Amino acid sequence: MSAVATPVVVKHLIDGEWTGDPEAERRNPARQDEVVAELAVGGASHVDAAVSAAAQAFPGWRKTPAPARGAILMRAAELLEQRKGEAAVLLCSEEGKTLAEATGEVTRATDILRFFGGEGWRIKGDALPSAVPSTEIITRKEPLGVVALITPWNFPIAIPTWKLAPALVAGNSVVMKPAAITPVSVQVLAECLQEAGLPPGVLNVVNGSGSVVGEALVRDERVAAISFTGSSEVGLEINRIGSARLARVQLEMGGKNALVVLGDADPKVAATVAAMGGWALTGQACTATSRVICTPDIHDSLVTALSDEAGGWQPGDGQDDGVKMGPVVSESQLRTDLEYIDTGKSEGAELVIGGAVASNHLFQPTVFTGVGPGMRIATEEIFGPVISVIEVADVDEAIAVTNDSAYGLSGGIVTNDLRSAMRFADEAEVGVVKINRPTTGVDLNAPFGGVKLSSSGTFREQGSVAVDFYTRLKSIYIGT
Ligand code: NDP
Repeated sequence: MSAVATPVVVKHLIDGEWTGDPEAERRNPARQDEVVAELAVGGASHVDAAVSAAAQAFPGWRKTPAPARGAILMRAAELLEQRKGEAAVLLCSEEGKTLAEATGEVTRATDILRFFGGEGWRIKGDALPSAVPSTEIITRKEPLGVVALITPWNFPIAIPTWKLAPALVAGNSVVMKPAAITPVSVQVLAECLQEAGLPPGVLNVVNGSGSVVGEALVRDERVAAISFTGSSEVGLEINRIGSARLARVQLEMGGKNALVVLGDADPKVAATVAAMGGWALTGQACTATSRVICTPDIHDSLVTALSDEAGGWQPGDGQDDGVKMGPVVSESQLRTDLEYIDTGKSEGAELVIGGAVASNHLFQPTVFTGVGPGMRIATEEIFGPVISVIEVADVDEAIAVTNDSAYGLSGGIVTNDLRSAMRFADEAEVGVVKINRPTTGVDLNAPFGGVKLSSSGTFREQGSVAVDFYTRLKSIYIGT
């Protein structure tokens, strides 16, 4: 079991300088006596200085050839890889996920840096014929300027990296605001980028609360674009403020993801897929399975198989061997999870697995049955390891219930019937469809995003298309 021997001092990065004195602390959610970080807390003046630095750095960074920008990302990937063990323990300690999950997340960050490092060679436009003789048209993707990146706590290094890498390779300068409760991983990432040769001011990081630092960034007229991942409530407010001043806004928000299980499926396979989606990452994933929608012919055997699975998912310290589910991230998230247990019971659902706090922040893997599609536990994002089982008559009703949601991020189906699977893929109102795979877990080269309240819906993240949000097209007419 590793511990963070001395707390990491987390500072702001402004114009290439690490500044600020510690004013707040972050404790390990699995070990409340372990202080993981002591951090500087920023305000409007830090945002102002960071945006100024980014604005000043932008012209030089924009003129740096894109392959050279990409080479810095490649070098940062190498440096992060060298620090993988340390970064994973820090991530595990600040967020609580298991060491295996944290190591996977740091690996994902290095892969993303490499992927977008390569994109530096591939940012391309078109050549078009013109109606005017001796004229050619070319289109070119240009960076936007200063962009603000606002990120949540549940993937403290992967989400910042998947925003930062396309933003930087496209030639933008950045001001980043990590979630206040998980600031360490972004500092590690920023250190790697700095050491890799990123010029001062191209990346700035301001720590602090969303209502102060985040909002100041969103309101700053010099910020050309805002990419946000977090709750739908905050995202809509950011959109209201940012869009009103014509800033480009990208929102990745909540989910109430459904996994449909049809009668022909193997209940054990389906239970494993549901458990992976619902309980891994302590259910604290935007793509987590929170509704399992099944037909009557498999309902009982599926619930029995889920019950068997639950034994392997008992929560523990994420750094202990064999633990598959870490603690809940914070006291307030724990309260939310517990409130939804009371809500489910009072709505008439039956709590068949878990629902209790094992100790401290350790919340048991949980299953409700007898859930009606209109209940709050079937409609509201809980963000904990809670699966609501909804019984439906057939695939038609399964798809209708899947779509009866304000959200539309990820949706899955477990079946061997290709026709039903492809019908689900066609008709599910979601951005990501998983057939015989958990609703969680996405590849870095595939576009990611949702519909309805889950995403702003205009630009996708991840994959080559992620660069589109961070660029605009210019059409150039050339007379010869
Ligand atoms: P929040 O919306 O509370 O916070 C997200 C970020 O926004 C944090 O950095 C937060 O700061 C900041 N913020 C809060 N208020 C404001 C504001 N008024 N102006 C600007 N920024 C602000 O979400 P959580 O961190 O609690 O993350 C959980 C949510 O994120 C879930 O709903 C989940 O579904 C969603 N999510 C979506 C993903 C997706 O890709 N669709 C992926 C991962 C999570 P701070 O908290 O530091 O005060």
